[in-house]
Amino acid sequence: MKFGGTSVGSAERIAEAANLVVKSVNEGHEVVVVTSAMSGVTNKLIAAAENAVKGHWHVSVRDELYEPHRNSAHLLIRDDAGRRRDALNAMLKHVEQFETLCKGLTMIRELSPRTLDAISGIGEMLCAPLLSGAIATQGKTSTPLEATELIVTNNQFGQAEPQMEKTRAKTRSRLLPMLEAGEIPVITGFIGANEDGVTTTLGRGGSDYSASILGAALDADEIWIWTDVDGVMSANPSEVPEARTLREISYSEAAEMAYYGAKVLHYKTILPAYKQNIPVRILNTFNPTNAGTRVSVEGRPSARGVKAVTSIRNVSLISISGKGMQGIPGIAAKTFDTVAEEKANVLMIMQASSENNICFVVNSNEANRVVNALRESLAVDLFQGHIEDISADDSIAIVAVVGDKMKGTTGISAKVFGAMGESQINVIAISQGSSEVNISLIVAEKDAAKAVLAIHQAFELHKPSSE
Ligand code: ADP
Ligand code: ASP
Ligand code: MG
Repeated sequence: MKFGGTSVGSAERIAEAANLVVKSVNEGHEVVVVTSAMSGVTNKLIAAAENAVKGHWHVSVRDELYEPHRNSAHLLIRDDAGRRRDALNAMLKHVEQFETLCKGLTMIRELSPRTLDAISGIGEMLCAPLLSGAIATQGKTSTPLEATELIVTNNQFGQAEPQMEKTRAKTRSRLLPMLEAGEIPVITGFIGANEDGVTTTLGRGGSDYSASILGAALDADEIWIWTDVDGVMSANPSEVPEARTLREISYSEAAEMAYYGAKVLHYKTILPAYKQNIPVRILNTFNPTNAGTRVSVEGRPSARGVKAVTSIRNVSLISISGKGMQGIPGIAAKTFDTVAEEKANVLMIMQASSENNICFVVNSNEANRVVNALRESLAVDLFQGHIEDISADDSIAIVAVVGDKMKGTTGISAKVFGAMGESQINVIAISQGSSEVNISLIVAEKDAAKAVLAIHQAFELHKPSSE
C-alpha cells in the first residue's frame, strides 16, 4: 500500500492511513507500506536548496520543516516504551542533515543533482517514522525503513532507475522475515541508493514507482496506490469536472495515460507490475469504500474505443528543418543519437513524408540543452545548408486520446479531428503509436484545456460505458 502526499498531509490524514493499514492487516493480509512526504514538503525542500545555493539560508527554514512533523508526532504517537521519543530523534537527525546540507550550499554555491537528491528525499524520511508510529500506536508492530536499504539504482540522480535483481535480493532478505514475524514495515517512497549507498531519487511523483518496484520484488498479490481521487479517471478531474472513474483499465491503457500526463500514476509505475502480472488498484483515502480503479491484463475494453483523454504541459517541440535534408542519409540517426546522449526523454516523434523536417517533443527543461547539442552534432549539415534551422517551441502541449479498443474501431481519428475543428483548435502535429492504444496531438498550450474538454465531450466519456 502506497500513500500519497495528501493522504499523509496532516496528523489526521496519517491517522486515517494508519487505520486503513491496520484494517487490512486485521482482515488477514500481509501489508508493506510505502509513504510519500507530507504534501508540499518536497517542494519546500527543493526551494530551500535552490535558495541556499544563492546564499539565502535562515534557521526559520529548518523550523518550518520540523514543526508540522513534530506536532504530528505528538498528536499521533503514544509514548509507550519511548516510541514517540525514538520517532522524534529519527526526525531530528534528518532535519539536522537538511540544515548541514543547506549551509554547505550557501558556501559552495553549487547544487549538483546528487546533492539535490540528498535534500529532496528527506521529506519521505521524515514521514515514515510518523506513519509507522501511528500504526504502532494502534497496537501493531511496525518499523520505519529507508528505501536506501532496499532499492538499488543506477547513478542517474533525479531520475534513477532500479537494478531489479539486486533490489529483489535486498528487499526480500530484509522484508520477508519482518512480514513473517507479523511486523508492518513502513518504507520511504521516492528514494533509493546507488551501489555505493548514495541516496538517489526516482523522479518527482516517484513514490508510486517505489511501490511497484517493491511490490514486484516481493511478488505481491496486489499493489494498492492510495491517493486523493476515486481512481484513474477519464480525464484530469481538475480540468474536466465531469470526468468519471474508470473501474477497470489494462496495463497498456494505464501506462499510456501515465506517460501522457495523468499525474495520478507516476509514468513508470506500471512496468514492474505488468512484467509480473500483479494487479494494481488506485484508491481514495478520502473515500476508502469506493472500489477505485483496477489495472489488469484484460482491463475490460470499452465499447466506445476511447477511454480517457490526458494532456502534458511544459513540453517543447523541437524542429529540424531544411529543404536540403531530402536524400541526405543519417540526419535522423544523428539527431536521435544526440538526444539519447543528452538522456532526454522523447515524448513524441513526427516526420513528414516530404523529409523537409524532423520534429519531436521533449520536456521543456531539457529543450535548451538538446537544441545546443544538436547544433553541435549537426554543425556540418547546418554549414552545408542541408539543415536551415534547429529550433524549440515551448508554447505547445500534447493531448493524448487513450483506449485499447481504439485499434480496429473506425472513425476515431475523424471524431477527434471533428471535435478540434468544431472548437476551432489548430492541430500542429499528430502521431499515432504503432500500438494504436493512443493518438497524440500537439496543440498550442493555450488551447490544451479546450481540446481535452472537446474530446471528452465528443466521446461522451462522462457517461458510464460497458467497462
Ligand atoms: P498523490 O499525492 O496521492 O501521489 P498526485 O497529486 O500525485 O497524488 O496524483 C493525484 C492527482 O492526479 C489527482 O488529485 C488529480 O488532480 C490528478 N490527475 C490528473 N489526471 C488524472 C486522471 N486521469 N485521473 C485521476 N487523477 C488525475
Ligand atoms: N514526495 C515526492 C514528490 O513530491 C514523491 C511523491 O510524492 O511521489 O515528488
Ligand atoms: Mg503522486
